[in-house]
Amino acid sequence: MSASQTDEFQKKVSSLLVRNSNILDILTKCQISCGKLCRSTVKSATGCGCVDISGEKSLSAFSLSKDFDAKEASGMNGSLCGACKSRVENEIGEMLFYIAGMCNALGLNMNDIMKKEIKNVEVLGKYSLK
Ligand SMILES: [Zn+2]
Repeated sequence: MSASQTDEFQKKVSSLLVRNSNILDILTKCQISCGKLCRSTVKSATGCGCVDISGEKSLSAFSLSKDFDAKEASGMNGSLCGACKSRVENEIGEMLFYIAGMCNALGLNMNDIMKKEIKNVEVLGKYSLK
């Protein structure tokens, strides 16, 4: 997303987030969105079956090789089918909506935050421990 798209999105959210404009409502909407994203992701495995999710011990940042594959390390095997992909994308979109709402309520700029985070991950790399 370019800076102008991020700014445009944040501005759009500012004009649309009316009913839940209180920061308390935005915070809880963020949590609900996160829960719905988790549920959609899990249901793609347990309901649809288009993916298989496994849990394994995570690698330490210090043992990562150059050919580290984030998709492989995620525990997700297979690919989301069209319906699951659409559902997960919608939930991520809703999360972004409320994150933009949080930024608006707190007087923060989403693009500035993303730029800052890019700088952080570039500096710390795999040692960011995220
Ligand atoms: Zn599916």
